Amino acid sequence: MLETPIAKALASQLRGNLLTRDDPDYDESRAIFNGMFDRRPSMIAQCTGTADVIACVNFAREHGFPLSVKGGGHGVAGKALCDDGLVIDLAPMNGVLVDPEHKTAQVQGGATLGVLDHETQKFGLAVPAGMVSTTGVAGLTLGGGVGHLQRRFGLTADNLIAAHVVTADGSLVRASESDNQDLFWALRGGGGNFGVVTSFEFKLHEVGPEILTARIVHPFDDAREVIQFFRDFMATAPREVGCLCGIIRISPKPPFPEEHHGKLAVALRAMDSRREATEENTPLRELASFGNPILSAVTPMQYTALQTASDAAFPKGSRNYWKAHYLSSLPDEAIDTLLENTGTLPGEFTSFNFETMDGVISEVDQSATAFPHRNAKFNLGIYGAWADESRDGEVIAWVRQLHKAMEPFSTGGAYVNALQGDAGDEFKQAYGDNFERLREIKQRYDPQGLFDAHQRIRVA
Ligand SMILES: Cc1cc2nc3c(=O)[nH]c(=O)nc-3n(C[C@H](O)[C@H](O)[C@H](O)COP(=O)(O)OP(=O)(O)OC[C@H]3O[C@@H](n4cnc5c(N)ncnc54)[C@H](O)[C@@H]3O)c2cc1C
Repeated sequence: MLETPIAKALASQLRGNLLTRDDPDYDESRAIFNGMFDRRPSMIAQCTGTADVIACVNFAREHGFPLSVKGGGHGVAGKALCDDGLVIDLAPMNGVLVDPEHKTAQVQGGATLGVLDHETQKFGLAVPAGMVSTTGVAGLTLGGGVGHLQRRFGLTADNLIAAHVVTADGSLVRASESDNQDLFWALRGGGGNFGVVTSFEFKLHEVGPEILTARIVHPFDDAREVIQFFRDFMATAPREVGCLCGIIRISPKPPFPEEHHGKLAVALRAMDSRREATEENTPLRELASFGNPILSAVTPMQYTALQTASDAAFPKGSRNYWKAHYLSSLPDEAIDTLLENTGTLPGEFTSFNFETMDGVISEVDQSATAFPHRNAKFNLGIYGAWADESRDGEVIAWVRQLHKAMEPFSTGGAYVNALQGDAGDEFKQAYGDNFERLREIKQRYDPQGLFDAHQRIRVA
């Protein structure tokens, strides 16, 4: 369907397919996680390797085409797609090569967390990364990357050894502690502003294949005491323990008793990643025995099963509006404010939760990487999610109101990967004190602003 000479010219340089609007696969290829966005690029290049990526970057620069980069397509701001421009779709570049001896993994720029876990767990190894398996490794790592293992091993970006990047002038460069150090610094928290990462090299850690997990659900009426307990428990929990605590709506199916179906609840999802952990010696027991839960289970589980356990709660194509705050502590007053503003938790898939940000994350110097939030103790993520467009106004207003109410407890920073980017200087705030340095590096690697579509850092 490549009718225009310009599309034909680009297609002739690619090994992968180039889709245009008339192509039968066009709509499937532009489907991203957040159903709020219906962007219509002129062309989608399904890149199969670095050569394709270089051809696309050169083409967009030379022809003045808007450009966007799609890794896993989970960016909640929907910037993987651009209207009327060229999309570099990295989905075909999803290979992961594990070196079990040196405990490293080479990961292509379009791989998802599910592929990463599948390959690394074969050897009882893992990269600390996110909690939904369909998320892209690339966007997640470039913003920082948080997940169950973060207290023990740090952010995903903290485990990056090197990256290969196609920069705006079409060159392929390596960024690491010894090559292009400024770019390496910027890639660890500075988002997709500097080029297309074709491959990442990560440090691997011994985790799994089986780990101990806890799943605990309490009635919403007990939320204040449960969140207080979570806060106090995590203050002394060993860093091998990870725990999320949030407000959800109970799904209408087993194992929940019928009388709780559809009701609000406090949910905790925890894990103890020590290989020597048993149901008898794990601190998760303490967490599980608190209060009067509706459900409380401490069970061994495959690490890969834990990593896919939340997938169904985040359906692809649902409408999403997200905001976040970092908090330096979680005083009772903050918990009260949160619960007073929970309201009906509008949206079928809406939730909000706390992640604990201490451990290895907080041992890294604030200026060592572009991720600046090393002093935060908790991340509060507010995830408005619903199916029907007619509810847009209601859910968005609720997210904004809860976010505003929690502002007095915020460090002023927020996780760049949990932002819609629709509120003034939201991204600038997310880069915090590192913003000016990021801007200088942007000027060096992308002076024309070719990679401006996402989490934008404008050049001076
Ligand atoms: C359901 C869900 C669950 C999530 N869970 C977590 C979690 O547990 N932990 C966490 O830290 N985050 C989580 N996130 C947030 C996630 O980190 C971001 O949405 C991230 O942007 C997703 O990356 P992606 O490659 O899938 O996204 P995309 O939408 O493909 O990319 C987002 C942006 O990243 C840039 N980008 C993507 N690939 C490349 C590349 N190869 N080179 C250069 N730039 C690139 C582009 O600028 C693009 O616009 C979650 C998001 C969703 C929707």
